[in-house]
Amino acid sequence: MKSDGLLIVGEDLCEKLVGRQQAFDAVQAVFGAMAKGGAWNFPVIREALGHADVLYGFKSGFDRDGQVLGLKSGGYWPGNAAKGLTNHQSTVFLFDPDTGRLSALVGGNYLTAVRTAASSAVSIAHLARQDARVLGMVGAGHQSTFQLRAAAEQRDFEKVIAWNPHPDMLPRLAAVATEVGLEFEAVSQQELGAQADVIITITSAFEPLLMKDWIKPGTHLACMGTDTKGKQEVDADLVAAATVFTDEVAQSVTIGEAQHAINLGALTEDAIAPIGAVINGDHPGRTSDDQITLFDGTGVGLQDLAVASVAARLAEEADLAQRATL
Ligand code: NAD
Repeated sequence: MKSDGLLIVGEDLCEKLVGRQQAFDAVQAVFGAMAKGGAWNFPVIREALGHADVLYGFKSGFDRDGQVLGLKSGGYWPGNAAKGLTNHQSTVFLFDPDTGRLSALVGGNYLTAVRTAASSAVSIAHLARQDARVLGMVGAGHQSTFQLRAAAEQRDFEKVIAWNPHPDMLPRLAAVATEVGLEFEAVSQQELGAQADVIITITSAFEPLLMKDWIKPGTHLACMGTDTKGKQEVDADLVAAATVFTDEVAQSVTIGEAQHAINLGALTEDAIAPIGAVINGDHPGRTSDDQITLFDGTGVGLQDLAVASVAARLAEEADLAQRATL
């Protein structure tokens, strides 16, 4: 971002300007840059404030290839829902990498959902079998509909099957499946594993929801909910049996889905490949139809910066952003 003055790009504008394809392209490009060493994330800060049960933090990084520098600041305010606000709140700050001047302030709530969905979609595009027809969804919260829409575009899916620990939340997924022209069925966890060719997990679980023996050969899993120490969505034996890919290996082994298999000694760090290596053609990705592939999507700051910089660029080009000077 090299505009004159500060651009302010609000949530509504982000929704209007950044669609799934732009998010996919931006996230795919930055994963590729990360794997080549052309972009890197800085250590994440995440703190319990000791106030209103708030978790607050920063994710930041520099994409030297794309010339994007900045941070996402935000966190989780559990009391917000009662005030009519989203519990997760975030804002992206972009800086001119040549001068350090603040170049854009971009709303981060919608972009977080769209960049997270883009991440699993990129993994499906590169790792799922081409003949995948059944999409399995585990999770039915805020992120799940974004995940479903982005995934649905990656293969010729015919059907969505879903399971959620709170079944009353499933109708929102059913509605989106119908909207994108896919049949929908609520199933048991075992049935989901037996039928699905691609599975997305996007829950706040702290215990495995899918066991290794339920998953059929050739499945691709995108595990997107585990982004903190202690969280877990699938059996550690399943992770150990799969060929594991991730956005960032350092996060995968500490706060991602792979943390449990690593802690048990069932998986080693060097067996986990960055998805960017597949994107760059430096890793073959899936090598057989029977292989289980698993993408550990932990969520990195560079994803946020990538989509925020798209929002700022498009807003500037269309002369839609508010402008300010500091
Ligand atoms: P949400 O609160 O809207 O929905 C939560 C989902 O988890 C629902 O499906 C709910 O039924 C389920 N759930 C809640 N408590 C559970 C429990 N104890 N055990 C099992 N399942 C439980 O949340 P959301 O915004 O949809 O986010 C879902 C998850 O994705 C969160 O854990 C969030 O931290 C994570 N997330 C990850 C990334 C990333 O980049 N990897 C980005 C955003 C969110």
